[in-house]
Amino acid sequence: MKSTLRLYLAMILVGCIIHPTFLFAANPGDPHIIYINLKLKKAAPVSVTKAALKYNKQLAFSFTLDDGYRSAYLTAFPLLNGGKISGPSPDEWRNDEGGDGSYSKGLFYSDGCHHNVPFRIAEAINAGNITDQFESRGHLSWAEIKALYNGGWDILNHGYHHATKHGTDFNYEVQQNITTVKQQMGFTMTQFVVPGGESDPGYEHDYERAAIKYGNNAVASIKGVGPIIPVDAPVNLTAMVYARDFIQSVGSDDNHNTANRSLKLLDSLMRLNKPVWFNEFSHGTGNGNLWGLSMRFPEFKYYMTAIAQKYGAAGKDNIWMAPWQEVYEYIWLRDRIKISTVKKGKQVTVKIEVPDLPGGFRHKAISLLVKTTGDFTVVPQSNNVKVNSNRQLINLEL
Ligand SMILES: [Zn+2]
Repeated sequence: MKSTLRLYLAMILVGCIIHPTFLFAANPGDPHIIYINLKLKKAAPVSVTKAALKYNKQLAFSFTLDDGYRSAYLTAFPLLNGGKISGPSPDEWRNDEGGDGSYSKGLFYSDGCHHNVPFRIAEAINAGNITDQFESRGHLSWAEIKALYNGGWDILNHGYHHATKHGTDFNYEVQQNITTVKQQMGFTMTQFVVPGGESDPGYEHDYERAAIKYGNNAVASIKGVGPIIPVDAPVNLTAMVYARDFIQSVGSDDNHNTANRSLKLLDSLMRLNKPVWFNEFSHGTGNGNLWGLSMRFPEFKYYMTAIAQKYGAAGKDNIWMAPWQEVYEYIWLRDRIKISTVKKGKQVTVKIEVPDLPGGFRHKAISLLVKTTGDFTVVPQSNNVKVNSNRQLINLEL
């Protein structure tokens, strides 16, 4: 008993010297406050800043497939995440939503700390079109959507019925989709994508208003910021309306001219001296060019594989291939999180103050950049955070 007490007192005394809560006199149980310590090999000036993009990448590339077609699960998901790609798979419209039947090891970038992360994209769905019922269905099933979500894809709201015509109840379309996905999947969609089609002029603004009214954080529409968004300074994300670049295969083009044009654009973005966020979308990714609005699987495979070879883990490793919601949430947090440091000799305590998060927030991460002349080790002080580090980069998952 006595020795336990002595040990306890000794721990408090040691704590007075090194424990960060004494340095900052903050409430150690506060989930909004995270501490990490840097132990320097030798005393030197240190600065800690937030990385513009997760893992300190040059380009955040958010790719979205609209309309919830089944080819996303049959071809795009195994190609990017690793697995068996479906062979030819005719759907209810006699369009081939399958791929080449090959096995993919997955396409990856790294987190800058020796871990590979698979390419992930977003799927924008209309819950009114989702069915579990028959084998040749053209749309995803709930189980397939769940697999995409669990694989790190974001699921975006594209309206309950993809309704656009005169007389559409925009509020219902937005809200009913949120409600149904919440019932089926257990999460709340927070990002809206305006469906396209026959419509009254300006209908997209009705959708934008309805989406924001029912709690969506941003809306992909016909006009807005982007498709290239600078991220080197704070980004105005409140009720954001943004535009995306549309990519589709043309004819039976085996030279992949469409993909090559986008690859050229990506190359130019990689050469900029400031980090940017680029948004692009298509529809299906099967062998057939569904509705003439899709990427045929051979071209999609060529495109994604080329991106991985150039900018993924095996290449320059400067891309963050992540769905819209994930990038949105990183930047939201980046622009609101507070970082401060206290240095005592060779120890630097980093205090990270996390704001209250909006409802439906899914991805909670921040990457930090440490500038100092010598080596250091990172010692997490809070158990409400997962830390990975490598040289000057520290990745935190909150
Ligand atoms: Zn659509």
